[in-house]
Amino acid sequence: MQRPNIVLIALDTQRADHLGCYGYSKATSPFIDSIARRGVLFERCYAPNIPTHPSFTTMLSGKEAMTHNIVNIGGGAPIAEGIRLLPEILKKQGYATVAVDSMGRHFSRGFDEYIPYTWDRSDPRVLRKAEAVNAKALPVIQRLSKQEEPFFLFIHYWDPHTPYLPPPAYRRKFYPKDRDPYDPENHSMDEAWTWEPFKWYFHDWMPGVTDAEYVVNLYDGETAYMDHHLRTIFAELAPQLQDTLVIITADHGEILNEQLGYFDHHGLYEGNVHVPLIFYWPGTMPRGKRVPGFVQNLDLAPTMLELAGILDHDRMEGLSLLPPIFGLRDGNYDEVYLSEATWELKRGLRTQRWKFINSLEPDRHGRPMQELFDLQSDPQEQRNVVAQYSDLAQGLASRLDTWVARRLAETGRKVDPLQTQGICGTKIGTPRPGELIGAGATPLHERKQAQAATIPAPEALQAPNEVTDEAKGVKLHGYVKR
Ligand SMILES: [Zn+2]
Repeated sequence: MQRPNIVLIALDTQRADHLGCYGYSKATSPFIDSIARRGVLFERCYAPNIPTHPSFTTMLSGKEAMTHNIVNIGGGAPIAEGIRLLPEILKKQGYATVAVDSMGRHFSRGFDEYIPYTWDRSDPRVLRKAEAVNAKALPVIQRLSKQEEPFFLFIHYWDPHTPYLPPPAYRRKFYPKDRDPYDPENHSMDEAWTWEPFKWYFHDWMPGVTDAEYVVNLYDGETAYMDHHLRTIFAELAPQLQDTLVIITADHGEILNEQLGYFDHHGLYEGNVHVPLIFYWPGTMPRGKRVPGFVQNLDLAPTMLELAGILDHDRMEGLSLLPPIFGLRDGNYDEVYLSEATWELKRGLRTQRWKFINSLEPDRHGRPMQELFDLQSDPQEQRNVVAQYSDLAQGLASRLDTWVARRLAETGRKVDPLQTQGICGTKIGTPRPGELIGAGATPLHERKQAQAATIPAPEALQAPNEVTDEAKGVKLHGYVKR
């Protein structure tokens, strides 16, 4: 068989359950849904290591974070020595490799061409992110389609990532016409406006908003805008789809207003760790197949290598997705182990029914050190039942400990890298002393451009950095605007 082209489309921050094909009631994703109907959808794919940089490293290395060493964003720790990423292996085996991506760091490894993009910031109320990505990706597809050798193309979209500033047609698409985002009587944003680490950042791009539903609508608007522009990519790929596997997934999801996460992706809750995964390869893969069991984005790289007929799997830790795709088993795992270390230091265990989360240190939302959720009766993870089911919780805690001990032994470590690297997110946004924050602040559309144009660019947020706050004489880590 001829080796297939592979197109990996990553939708940064897209939670699974806000897509129609994952049961969402709003029409955020008609195009992605149409692809899912003609392809294979994994109902329960998990991102074990969040957020962005840990997750993409897991996805592209086929190895878990304890092995590859990238446990947070902005902490600056390097990828472990000897790790080879998927594009490096594909390139060595004769694939043309191109990325349209802005992450930099080790993510550029193995690509013949690594093509970054920036957002047009001339209108502070709108970021046409998907269009900027497509402007770079479409000429690449045209060029690659004329080449003899198979290609691997990685395209990274950021639309559902904050700031949520979709074009005007999407700004109120999922918001009732008679509702006011700035209603002073609405207090659903009060908690977010008092959370120190993020409040000035929110003030940059959604000043004065009091209705959390409006912000959720903006998130969904971003998805709908991105979904619309994915059509163009598939249209360009159309002549080659018989020989091309297209994968749509996300590095992590987003907490909206259902947890103390406030429009960000910290917390090992379902909104963050349950991600979409769709395989589309007409004529070769099943049509309309839904895989019900647990899989992880750890499984992507070994699966792509298998489909490319490449035997060098570099001791990847993920499992092939082909048996579940072709119905030989329901999924790849009975349970999934989770970690995060950017804004808080946590490990978690997701079983068929339960979610257990263990904090390695107190978090900044003041949540309990241990949380247990019964996902059967409480899928939104609203009721911590750790006291009610203390035996069960201790059983899960010891399973998590055993798993960590095993991973330490396998990776030759003495100490958990979550402990040695710690958190690196401290605060985000620019304080403007004297400005009203929350209800009553001047809305973005009424602000002067000069004031509003300070919204940080995604590349500024994601890059590893270390900045000193001169006034206070302290070091700021991670998500600090440069
Ligand atoms: Zn991300």
